[in-house]
Amino acid sequence: MKAISFDVDGTIVDGKFMDRFWNELIPKYYSEKHGIDYSKALEFVKKCYDEVGDKDLRWYLPDYWFERFQLDIELKDVLEEFRGELRIYPDALEVLEKLRDKYRLIAISNAVREIMEFELEDMSEFFWKTFSCPSDLGDIRRKPEIYIDVCRSINLSPTQLLHVGDHPYFDFEVPTKAGIRSILIDREGVNGHIKSLRELEDFIPL
Ligand SMILES: [Mg+2]
Repeated sequence: MKAISFDVDGTIVDGKFMDRFWNELIPKYYSEKHGIDYSKALEFVKKCYDEVGDKDLRWYLPDYWFERFQLDIELKDVLEEFRGELRIYPDALEVLEKLRDKYRLIAISNAVREIMEFELEDMSEFFWKTFSCPSDLGDIRRKPEIYIDVCRSINLSPTQLLHVGDHPYFDFEVPTKAGIRSILIDREGVNGHIKSLRELEDFIPL
C-alpha cells in the first residue's frame, strides 16, 4: 500500500461545518431574501434538497442552489462569515502528521474545490494530492469509475490505495467495488469499522 485517501467532511473536518452551511445559512439567506419565517424557509429548503437527493451532483453545487433560490450571495462571502466555526478533528491532525512521511496522503471530497480548499487551507502541507470530485472529475463519487479515475491520474492501482471516510455508500461501498480497501469511520461508534482515526494503526503501520 502506497497511498491513503481521506474523505474531508465528517472525516478530517468536523461535519458540523458543512451541515451548518446547508441547513442553517442557506435557509437563513432564503428567509431574508424572500421575507418569510426562518422555520418556513428551513422546511422549504430541506424539501428541495430531498427532492434532488444526495446521489445527484446538483445537491453538492452551491451555485445551483444560489440560483434556484435566487440568492444574491457569493460562496466565498458565506464561507468567510462562519470561518470561525471550522474545526479540524484533533485525531485527524495527529494521525496525518504521523502518516505523512510513510504514505502519500490524498484528500477526496464531494464538495466543490472552493469549499474543499477553504476547509483544508491550514492543512495543505499534509496532502500530496487533493481531488474535488465535482470540480475536478465532473461527478460525485457515486460510481467506482470515479475512484478508478483518481487512481489512474496518480498512477496507482486500486490495491495500492486505502480509502477512509464516513459515508457508508460513497466511502465504503463504491470504493470497495473499485477494488480499493476501504475503512468506514463512524465517530458515534454505531456502524463503522473505526470510531477515531487513531484506530487506523490497527489496519496499517503508523
Ligand atoms: Mg464525509
